[in-house]
Amino acid sequence: MQKAHIGCHAFASLIVAAALACPAPGADFGARFDEIKRSASPAELYAFLFALPKGGDLHHHNGLSAYGATWYAAATSPKTLARNSFYTMTKLGNCSGDSDARPRFYTVQRATFAKLSTCQQGEFEALEKLSPEMKAAWLSSLVLDRPGEGRKEFFDEIVLRFGDLNHDPYLAADVIVENMKLFGAEGVRYIESQSIPAGFLHADGRPMDPEDANRIIEQRLHEADAAASGVEIRFQDVVIRFLPNAEQEIERAYAWVAAHRDRWVGINMAGIEDNSKGYALRFLDTYRRMRRTYSDIPLSIHAGEKDSPGHEVHDTLLLGASRIGHGVNLISDPDTMLLMRNNVYLVEINLISNRVLEYVPDTSKHPFPEYLRTGIPVCLNTDDRGAWGSNMTDEYYTAVTTFNLSWKEVVDLGRNSLTHSFAEDSLKAAMLGDYDRQVHAFEGRFAGDWRGALKGVKPLVSQYAGQRWGFHE
Ligand SMILES: [Zn+2]
Repeated sequence: MQKAHIGCHAFASLIVAAALACPAPGADFGARFDEIKRSASPAELYAFLFALPKGGDLHHHNGLSAYGATWYAAATSPKTLARNSFYTMTKLGNCSGDSDARPRFYTVQRATFAKLSTCQQGEFEALEKLSPEMKAAWLSSLVLDRPGEGRKEFFDEIVLRFGDLNHDPYLAADVIVENMKLFGAEGVRYIESQSIPAGFLHADGRPMDPEDANRIIEQRLHEADAAASGVEIRFQDVVIRFLPNAEQEIERAYAWVAAHRDRWVGINMAGIEDNSKGYALRFLDTYRRMRRTYSDIPLSIHAGEKDSPGHEVHDTLLLGASRIGHGVNLISDPDTMLLMRNNVYLVEINLISNRVLEYVPDTSKHPFPEYLRTGIPVCLNTDDRGAWGSNMTDEYYTAVTTFNLSWKEVVDLGRNSLTHSFAEDSLKAAMLGDYDRQVHAFEGRFAGDWRGALKGVKPLVSQYAGQRWGFHE
């Protein structure tokens, strides 16, 4: 069987595949994958899944997707220091004007630092001058790496610490490209990053026109190393749903995406949904009004990211969403589950996020296999992987080892991520064709001496994988 597969693959490379009717990817590699699951060591399985072609990541948040180490390297690079510099609050002091809302390691740019009182400046240190110990503490402050750190640490501390790092478009662009390289190294070919095209500052502290910031980022994305990453990137404009002006933000996002469709492909809503400010139906009138004016702007919306039952996913489909972020409590809403079976709506699954933020602390109880195996389209995603210290390989490793995924399920997850992406039709078709070819090549690579083939794989082991499973490079 494996021989036949190799033969087909070899002939495919001679461009006679059509005449031979090669099987679709995933059709005949299942037995080999079962053997690998049975007999590979955990580290071998991790390496195998690192090398796996993985399609796209449809759900992650731009700044928080990048590791602290990536931010640090970019923020302290000679290129950045030639036009800006950053200071981080290493001491919690007692100066007048100090805000309790600013956690330790809150980071500002030079112009913000210059406006602080002398007392307050004494609480900060230049990022590039941190001692090795202080740098390690700064890096640790951006990731959930200690016992007891969870939802509260993430929302109340980590998110705030970025401060002005998020406001420098040149720095943001460098970080995006470095993140693309990391995604590319583990076989991800497309990312659809949630981003807010506003709030940028000039190095002297003046607000920057979003169009200017967008141009800066766009120029960076056209540099050679971005293309060499092998990763295509598109953005979703994300609205924070619990803000008092969220309706106006949705209007702004529609106008922005409509005017920048080459790179901005959809709208998302994030933030806590289970209070009187963030619930889905608050926005029904706004989305209906927007649809009277704008065509073809798809919605992916966080919904049901909760550990209690509810109809959030139902209400979010009513808003017009074709993709649901998380959908953890969809399992509690049978009618909506039945509606979504064998339908066009995809649930963006985030296993590690749900675990570390304590929405599903025990992954073995996650509803993902129920969705997957009852015909609700799903794919795997990394969410705020910078803050988890994780990567896409970790998501696949978690899914395969917790739920005994079949080869067909593994391949379908990647294909779903591309099929349900908001990429333009031509790019989507090209990526799906590439994906099938890459999966075929991957199957061919591991169809023979798979253990020997694995020796050629050098996985980038994430901090999460090191801490949770004890892997090392
Ligand atoms: Zn998210």
